[in-house]
Amino acid sequence: MSQTRILVTGGAGFIGSHYVRTLLGPLGPDDVSVTVLDAFTYAAMPANLDEVEGAPGFRLVVGDICDPQTVDRLMAAHDQVVHFAAESHVDRSLVSSAEFVRTNVLGTQVLLDAALRHGISTFVHVSTDEVYGSIANGSCAEEQPLNPNSPYAASKASSDLLALVYHRSHGLDVRITRCSNNYGHHQYPEKIIPLFVTRLMDGHKVPLYGDGLHVRDWLHIDDHVRAIELVRTRGRAGEVYNIGGGTELNNRELTQLLLDACGASWDRVEYVTDRKGHDRRYSVDWQKAHTELGYKPQKDMTEGLAETVAWYRDHRDWWENARTAPVVTGGTVPC
Ligand code: NAD
Repeated sequence: MSQTRILVTGGAGFIGSHYVRTLLGPLGPDDVSVTVLDAFTYAAMPANLDEVEGAPGFRLVVGDICDPQTVDRLMAAHDQVVHFAAESHVDRSLVSSAEFVRTNVLGTQVLLDAALRHGISTFVHVSTDEVYGSIANGSCAEEQPLNPNSPYAASKASSDLLALVYHRSHGLDVRITRCSNNYGHHQYPEKIIPLFVTRLMDGHKVPLYGDGLHVRDWLHIDDHVRAIELVRTRGRAGEVYNIGGGTELNNRELTQLLLDACGASWDRVEYVTDRKGHDRRYSVDWQKAHTELGYKPQKDMTEGLAETVAWYRDHRDWWENARTAPVVTGGTVPC
């Protein structure tokens, strides 16, 4: 059987590593090989890929998507790309946006150019619901104009548009996903769910922005990974697919669930000054992914959250290491 050689960028991070573990796990397709290209920024953990180390068809390359030579060499030896690599934390982008523009915009352009040069058959670009900006009521469909409100969202919107025009101008088979807030195990403990869970487990207070009424739609990592596979295997060139999770909560409601799961009360919550430009509500209409690809979120949030909290309880080493891990640079590590 001929193998589809997939280059997964950012495959040592939260979503990318889950995608790779799923593809190479017992329920994954048997006709793919996977190369992870990851720069191992602070957000990546080598342990995220332990499960697939030694799996047939798996290779890890430590490198930067902004490096044209590395990207060119790898692209020549692959058929498809699933592009996760990014600077992904909004708060960091408010402190310093340079790395966001570099990785998210320039890095995507380097990948797209190389994909075009080497005749990549499918390029899945993983974008975000944040590109639409805040929506008070209803949900954004894929045609909604982009209206980002943070340097992170602006850098993702730029790369998202760049990816789209590589289809429109050059005919490259680019498929874009715009998903809502992901949750699950292996998420770096700076994002709200792992941040709150690990702080509560350590006996600390948790910081709740502003009035705590910002609304997000929560998407379990398993559902997201399933959706990305549907887009890779069944999606159409040049199309955008929204991926929603189906559980809308404001941050106070989410905090209540996390306090309950950790056996803590509201005296552990500290209201802090709101984040600059904090979008009030995101919501995507994922009807297109449902109709065209058969996508539907399956994970119940109460169950998914309980499993997530249990994972952090059982993997203290992972998140303590994550907060202090040295940054890995350079080299190729074949596994
Ligand atoms: P993450 O921060 O956990 O992982 C990002 C990965 O990219 C890390 O492994 C990091 O080392 C790698 N990386 C960063 N810069 C790189 C570079 N220059 N070259 C190579 N690798 C580099 O992020 P995540 O939460 O897994 O998000 C993955 C993708 O999904 C991102 O594109 C993000 O914008 C998008 N997304 C995430 C969410 C979410 O809720 N986490 C929601 C919507 C969209």
